[in-house]
Amino acid sequence: MNDKATILLVDDTRTNIELLAGCLQKHYNLKVAMDGKRCIELAERDPIPDLILLDVIMPDMDGYEVCRTLKSNPSTKDIPIIFVTGKDSDKDEEFGLQLGAVDYITKPIRPAIVTARVGTQIILKQQSDALRSMALHDQLTRLFNRHYLIEAANSKVARITRHGGTLSVMMIDIDYFKLVNDQFGHQGGDTVLKAVANVLSSANRKEDIVARFGGEEFVILLDHCSISDADEKAEQLRSSIEHLLPEGISVTASFGIAELQPDGEEFEHLLARADQAVYLAKEKGRNCVVQAEKELEVKES
Ligand SMILES: [Mg+2]
Repeated sequence: MNDKATILLVDDTRTNIELLAGCLQKHYNLKVAMDGKRCIELAERDPIPDLILLDVIMPDMDGYEVCRTLKSNPSTKDIPIIFVTGKDSDKDEEFGLQLGAVDYITKPIRPAIVTARVGTQIILKQQSDALRSMALHDQLTRLFNRHYLIEAANSKVARITRHGGTLSVMMIDIDYFKLVNDQFGHQGGDTVLKAVANVLSSANRKEDIVARFGGEEFVILLDHCSISDADEKAEQLRSSIEHLLPEGISVTASFGIAELQPDGEEFEHLLARADQAVYLAKEKGRNCVVQAEKELEVKES
């Protein structure tokens, strides 16, 4: 929240860009595009803008078309857009808002109006980002939560089913966690969860997703990772956890790993196999890594 918000200014007239930049450069990080195509490029590139000020009348691709394109792309659809335009009839304004713009500023540009309206939209954007982040993360460990994991996993699996690739999943369950809680209280339990979460997230690559799945259960999605690489990684994590001793509490964990099968396996099935491998790791005496079977074993009841 302390970082400056980023605003993308889009206008085919240089003096308008200069005027807008003059109002905003003190408080915001600015990016500039002078046509629609460039706007779309910059909207997808880091730093992703928190707000776009979009001119309507531009050659080649007008602001309305740019807005439609941005709103139809999942990676840019949530960026708020304010139209800045000389078209000032009620009909024009209504049309712009119907396309999904959050506000409409008319030219000639009046600095006080621009500053105030931009300020309001940036505050709303930061609030909605904070809420979204809270909804996707576990508050204790700050890892992603189960909800996010499943959403992300399903889209990764769909991508691999279409285009091919490798994906492995690692499930981690802290051993004898109930005893930790009994012996050291919930604060001790929280200390252990946070320490384990730290180990899991510090070792991961950018493309991996580390999530707290349930009480003392964690899942890591390993993109572009085969079962043998996952095994090696799990062994390192297992050893790091064993040597953690947070506040002197001895902790170990059991690991189950599974690789997505190329026959259209769904994430739910992949995860169930990893879960079964964790169960086997527990049976083997805990504090170890077990690779999942290709088929889910049906347990007799
Ligand atoms: Mg123009």
